[in-house]
Amino acid sequence: MTSPETPQQVIVELCRQFYGMGWVTGTGGGISIRKDGRVYMAPSGVQKERLTEQDIYVLDEQGETLCAPATPGLKVSECSPLFFNAFKLRDAGAVIHSHGVHALLVTLLAGDRDVFECTEIEMMKGIAGTGYYDRLVVPIIENTAHERDLAGRMAAAMDAHPKATAVLVRRHGVYVWGKDWAQAKTQAECYHYLFEVAVRMAQLGFDASAPSRPGGHVTAVGGRT
Ligand code: ZN
Repeated sequence: MTSPETPQQVIVELCRQFYGMGWVTGTGGGISIRKDGRVYMAPSGVQKERLTEQDIYVLDEQGETLCAPATPGLKVSECSPLFFNAFKLRDAGAVIHSHGVHALLVTLLAGDRDVFECTEIEMMKGIAGTGYYDRLVVPIIENTAHERDLAGRMAAAMDAHPKATAVLVRRHGVYVWGKDWAQAKTQAECYHYLFEVAVRMAQLGFDASAPSRPGGHVTAVGGRT
């Protein structure tokens, strides 16, 4: 599916949608798109739901600014080094950073573990390379006082979990990437659904990481053994 929209238009539209979903409220969170050798991202600390196309920075693939908004006092997103992790280490086409409440809550649910895990939840199938009977693992890194200082921990977690398409940040939120903005968006939707399910299951006394039957991961038809 080809789209006549520019990356700037897509970022503005998605930020409004993500604001409505609670992912980018209070100026937090955001999205970056990489396309045709250029990287597009919003300024730091601005109301994401009120962005215009003229507010979007354009960078080269080394992170140098090619085009900055005319509005004085703006600076490029604090998330820039983290977005670039996904571009450089995973060849991603887009990265979404969310401060969604359930993304934060699952990092508390994990206790002192450094991964979120779930299995046998239908929406896992929306995550690239993941089936219903698989164990979906999302690494969790510890938060820092400044967002940009998370970059090293995120890169280390991505190295340690080569299949991961997201990294959670304890008491903070999540970074999700995809080959293009549409995949990053749909995967972010699935992750947020899974995080909310895991929280609700915990409230009901269920463990989202446990198979539905003792010994689990064995099915009569179609499943993995
Ligand atoms: Zn953040």
